[in-house]
Amino acid sequence: MSTDSLHTQTLAELKAGLENRDFSAVELAEALLARIDAHDATLNALLTVTAEQALDAARQADDRIANGEARALEGLPIVHKDIFCTRGVRTTCGSRMLDGFVSPYDATVVSRLADAGTIMLGKANMDEFAMGSSNETSYYGPVHNPWNPACSPGGSSGGSAAAVAGRLAPAATGTDTGGSIRQPAALTNTVGLKPTYGRVSRYGMIAFASSLDQAGVITRSVEDAALLLGGMAGFDERDSTSIDHPVPDYFSALEEDLSGLRVGVVRQHFDAGLEEHTGAAVREALDLLKTKGAELVDVDLPNIDLSVPTYYVVAPAECSSNLSRFDGVRFGHRADDAEDLLDLYCKSRGEGFGAEVKRRILTGTYVLSAGYYDAYYLKAQQVRALIAEDFREAFANVDVIAGPTTPTPAFELGAKTDDPITMYLNDIYTIGANLAGLPALSVPCGFVGGLPVGLHLVGGHFAEQTLLNVAYSYQRDTDWHHRCPEAYA
Ligand code: GLN
Repeated sequence: MSTDSLHTQTLAELKAGLENRDFSAVELAEALLARIDAHDATLNALLTVTAEQALDAARQADDRIANGEARALEGLPIVHKDIFCTRGVRTTCGSRMLDGFVSPYDATVVSRLADAGTIMLGKANMDEFAMGSSNETSYYGPVHNPWNPACSPGGSSGGSAAAVAGRLAPAATGTDTGGSIRQPAALTNTVGLKPTYGRVSRYGMIAFASSLDQAGVITRSVEDAALLLGGMAGFDERDSTSIDHPVPDYFSALEEDLSGLRVGVVRQHFDAGLEEHTGAAVREALDLLKTKGAELVDVDLPNIDLSVPTYYVVAPAECSSNLSRFDGVRFGHRADDAEDLLDLYCKSRGEGFGAEVKRRILTGTYVLSAGYYDAYYLKAQQVRALIAEDFREAFANVDVIAGPTTPTPAFELGAKTDDPITMYLNDIYTIGANLAGLPALSVPCGFVGGLPVGLHLVGGHFAEQTLLNVAYSYQRDTDWHHRCPEAYA
């Protein structure tokens, strides 16, 4: 069989092809490494390509397949967001601070997926320390959207999303603190799943805002999201917030029937901020769910309008604490002309961090300071509890909440870089799920002016299977997710 079209296949198709010996894991890895060679100069989706390591792993995968010892994801190539520590491989988190950092250990997500048989092709570009919605805060330059290179692919997992949309890899890992998996998925016509907080281990995932950060997946189909989530989810004693809850076989349990499903629609999600055609695409998707047997129910999330301001107190507060470890002494960049210890801290951090990260650290330090703690941080935590309670009440009456993932399709690179508040509003529909620790998924639901948009589904805690089933059912009746940017077919 020709290997020219392997990049067009999904994980599930590649898995079948490998099992069937239509091609080898080495041929597959070579085909995708060639794609990366040909296209990544334009996309800038990858910061490190681990070609030799990938080919070694692929040879071992072929041996296992030959010996009948194939594991669940044997020989399937993926890329990891560069926020995950990878042993012996540069791990930058998109920052100058960690430019030369080679991790001495693997994140649990990385080791679990490797133990399941996946093959790492490389590390994906991202906003610096995952702070951003456009990939423009990366020290290594922006990622370009395969649907239009003048546009952003979203962020912070923009490299992961662009790599999958551009067919450089069939799937990628990502992380989501306020929308960083789902927003780039929506803007690149890919599927993005952020699991329940605690579902996937955060061990070895460089921390941004620990009470919000969660690892997940970006794929081209819902089946693939189910496959990959199964390979990474589960309890990890090395993460104190990991939850010991059984991991279902998401893939085998995929189910198309939506009869009786109650889908909540939130009024505020269709307010003035939503671009008209994006809203129309989402409404059409909701109508399709209805014709498939779902019931649409109006739900109220009275405090959801406060989610963005709440997030921009909580997340910076936690980041200011997490990033204090980068002091020029123990990790990362060290200024070489420091006069004393204080000067070393100041210069190393001043040189190592970019503008957005500094803005967050300053905000976070301010809201946690003695004089302002009660007014800002404590208040934000109280509002966060109200938002979580709103969701809890809503899920007493509905199975999922559905709406737009983003207010608009992809925007041009540079369009929002001078205005952080406008940039922050990208996550207006996604942040609530992080504040409440809920699982959420974005699935392609149409195009506006040639650019993709996504349908956002939020579920109750541990309702990943419900989200996957709704999206799976939707994909069975639509072909948005099969569309590929012309230059990357
Ligand atoms: N865009 C949001 C931020 O900049 C969310 C980022 C994320 O989910 N990592 O904080």
